[in-house]
Amino acid sequence: MSHAGVDVDIAIIGAGAAGLAAGRELLRANASFIILEARDRAGGRARTFDAGDCPIDLGCGWLHSADENPFVAVAEELGVQLDRSGAPWQKPAWPGNFPLNEQKLYREEWARFYERLEAGAQDAVDRPASDFLTPGHPANAMLDAGSTFINGVELAGLSTVDYSRYHDNGINWRAPAGFGALIAGMGAGLPVTYNCPVTLIDHSGKQLRLQTPRGTISARAVVVSVSTNLIAGEHLRFEPAMPEKIAAAANLPLGLADKLFLHVERPDDLPLEGRVYGARDKVAMTSFHTRPFARPVIECYFGGAFAREMEAGGKAAFADFAIGELVAAFGASIRARLTPVVATQWGLDPFALGSYSHARVGHSDARAVLAAPVEGRIFFAGEACSRRDFSTAHGAFRTGVAAAIAALAV
Ligand SMILES: Cc1cc2nc3c(=O)[nH]c(=O)nc-3n(C[C@H](O)[C@H](O)[C@H](O)COP(=O)(O)OP(=O)(O)OC[C@H]3O[C@@H](n4cnc5c(N)ncnc54)[C@H](O)[C@@H]3O)c2cc1C
Repeated sequence: MSHAGVDVDIAIIGAGAAGLAAGRELLRANASFIILEARDRAGGRARTFDAGDCPIDLGCGWLHSADENPFVAVAEELGVQLDRSGAPWQKPAWPGNFPLNEQKLYREEWARFYERLEAGAQDAVDRPASDFLTPGHPANAMLDAGSTFINGVELAGLSTVDYSRYHDNGINWRAPAGFGALIAGMGAGLPVTYNCPVTLIDHSGKQLRLQTPRGTISARAVVVSVSTNLIAGEHLRFEPAMPEKIAAAANLPLGLADKLFLHVERPDDLPLEGRVYGARDKVAMTSFHTRPFARPVIECYFGGAFAREMEAGGKAAFADFAIGELVAAFGASIRARLTPVVATQWGLDPFALGSYSHARVGHSDARAVLAAPVEGRIFFAGEACSRRDFSTAHGAFRTGVAAAIAALAV
């Protein structure tokens, strides 16, 4: 289908959580709009992979702050069941390679670290979160690895002020059929054009003109929901240029979190919904979630610079490392029971270029700069625009709704 000459009131760029939430709002308001999506699917960084009868979330998997999470209402509306049994990281880890008395010492140090960090966030000058580590403490490597899982980046690259603004009430739910599938399900009934990357937004004239490989689309307003790395790298450009948006996006880079899924034969000896950690003395380590939903699967989580290094070697590199750590934890006999199923490479994904945003030290206010509308007709959405729910699907959702409401007022 060519889009030459298409004229809409509002164009949404991107059919991820933010763009789809914006689209639902515009549909309800009976607006004239279109969603332009570069990929051949909806969901963006939310994606459920179909491994036979075992749905696997390659991107977001958890509804964080679940009892306040807007996706609960979406799930009810779409008839999607949610699991409320809680998250494995909130229970003690498997004690086989991490004795419970050591876990207690680590947990105490983590609690003290986060207290120091929260206090430090009140200082006049923002500091790297690593400033609040106790020098030489044995829990430091794991705390840093934890940051790569939570933030996609090591503590040295993390703004203390930004991190302290993040809201999490500790309630975590899942969708057994996949969070990615739930989010993509919001696309049904919305006017999404797939395989349609927007390369330029020309805002020099009265109408906005959006360049795509299918032709130019005219719109009165636009909601931009692509990731910060795509804006910073000018994969989507503005004419005239908007250097303040490029700078804001560059100060909110996407960190990296990747997942590998292993199928495990005869899984019954592994902890059900268990949390297992690899080597605790290195930041380059894997966190494992064993037998989610009692399925014969292990989810292996990698973060930060280590995930970037592993991405270069693809599924084989992820599997080689993760299986090595599982052998160290459970013994050599587990090796023959493990088969790699799928691994992500979010950093190499051309329509994401990373996993989720964090603020560089000293740049927590870049989120407000990125989110600010331009000329009353160019609106920004996406997880990075959220001051307190950044890096999450529900944060993306809320920014999409807000941008749509603002665009409707034009
Ligand atoms: C491994 C991993 C685990 C995660 N775990 C969780 C979790 O447990 N809970 C949670 O809440 N969040 C989690 N997240 C984060 C969550 O997935 C994201 O914050 C959220 O999906 C981002 O949504 P978005 O709409 O802001 O961006 P995106 O999902 O990136 O959507 C942007 C859309 O724009 C499209 N696009 C890009 N460029 C163009 C262009 N030029 N033209 C048209 N379209 C374009 C993209 O293809 C994409 O579909 C995780 C992410 C990853 C990667």
